[in-house]
Amino acid sequence: MKAVPSRNVQQMPPYLFSNLNRKKETLKRQGVDMIDLGIGDPDLPTPPFIIDQLIKELNHPDNFKYSTFNGCPEFRHAVSEFYLKHFHVKIDKDKEVQTLIGSKEGIAHLVQAMIDPDDIVLIPDPSYPVYKMAVHLAGGKAYPVRLDPDNDFKPDLESIPHEILQKAKLAFLNYPSNPTGATVNIDFFEKAVAFFKKHGIYIAHDSAYNLVTFGNYQAPSILQVDGAKDIAVEFGSLSKAFNMTGWRIGYLVGNEEMIKTLLTVKSNLDSCQFLPIQKAAAIALKSDLSFLKERNAVYERRGQVMRQALRNIGIETNPLKGSIFLWAKVPGSMTSGAFCERLLEEAGVVVTPGTAFGKNGEGYFRVSLSVPDKRLEEAAKRIKQFL
Ligand SMILES: *Cc1c(COP(=O)(O)O)cnc(C)c1O
Repeated sequence: MKAVPSRNVQQMPPYLFSNLNRKKETLKRQGVDMIDLGIGDPDLPTPPFIIDQLIKELNHPDNFKYSTFNGCPEFRHAVSEFYLKHFHVKIDKDKEVQTLIGSKEGIAHLVQAMIDPDDIVLIPDPSYPVYKMAVHLAGGKAYPVRLDPDNDFKPDLESIPHEILQKAKLAFLNYPSNPTGATVNIDFFEKAVAFFKKHGIYIAHDSAYNLVTFGNYQAPSILQVDGAKDIAVEFGSLSKAFNMTGWRIGYLVGNEEMIKTLLTVKSNLDSCQFLPIQKAAAIALKSDLSFLKERNAVYERRGQVMRQALRNIGIETNPLKGSIFLWAKVPGSMTSGAFCERLLEEAGVVVTPGTAFGKNGEGYFRVSLSVPDKRLEEAAKRIKQFL
């Protein structure tokens, strides 16, 4: 019998770049030496002190039982301590923190917990595709909010039509941003909180890159804004912060009601993360964060090399302040898709077309800095020859 997918699954927006993927597969089979700058997954290892803690925790049989649904106290306490130390924000570890099996899981389930069919959710365009897909699967309507290149890829909130604001229930934000690498200061969050509060719209801020920042820049938390907890939650993740993508550990903090709503869904669908992983992640958040300095210096150096190489051939990119990506302008009049296909075919370099992140990504491509320095330098050379 043929399994018939649900209507929402059948009607999922198609992945636009199957062509590009097919080409990638063909070239791989032919043994072409491809450099993949499309990857959003750190190439550097998890720091040893976290792995050592995991091994210790694995020797306690009590850790093999189910976790409580909202996460173990050690991890929730570590998140709350991290917010106090790093952002000077008080978080109640019992009511305002939820352990997640990676923030992607939490994003999808929060949408399911809050959104009814035809509810509108405001989604930055371009952005991490999971927001839009989660809204679609929940039967909601994703309304793209254009990120303005002339305003450091911040949204022009005042330009959202009134009838959309009236119907919208939830808005996603993400800084430091994937894919644009844009960052904000606290004044942007102050404006956003005031604006969405006025319109009765909840905020979900995705801070996956909050600890991947360069130079003197420190990413603020939206919860630093007075009264933010009335309407906002913030997603955090160990994935990019501590090179732990495969571990699947993240958290949601902020508005108590939203956290409770998420727990209602999660306690019926999953049983939280393996305790040794939560406890090792707790040690990471409780650490002095000195690990970040050297790790972030690696991304910064790679970013500078790639930025300069692109600038030398007339391609401008975002300033280097946070995230693991450069957001670069497609040269000439090619579309993002065509440029990326040609770069792959003629130079063996994989980058992600901006339109993979929304229609406002047209005219851009995304370069990942999570590849070893030597390969990045080689890629820069090939891009130069290609042009
Ligand atoms: C990588 C990424 C995530 C996913 O993080 P996990 O915690 O590994 O699920 C979330 N948001 C953005 C913007 C990302 O780039």
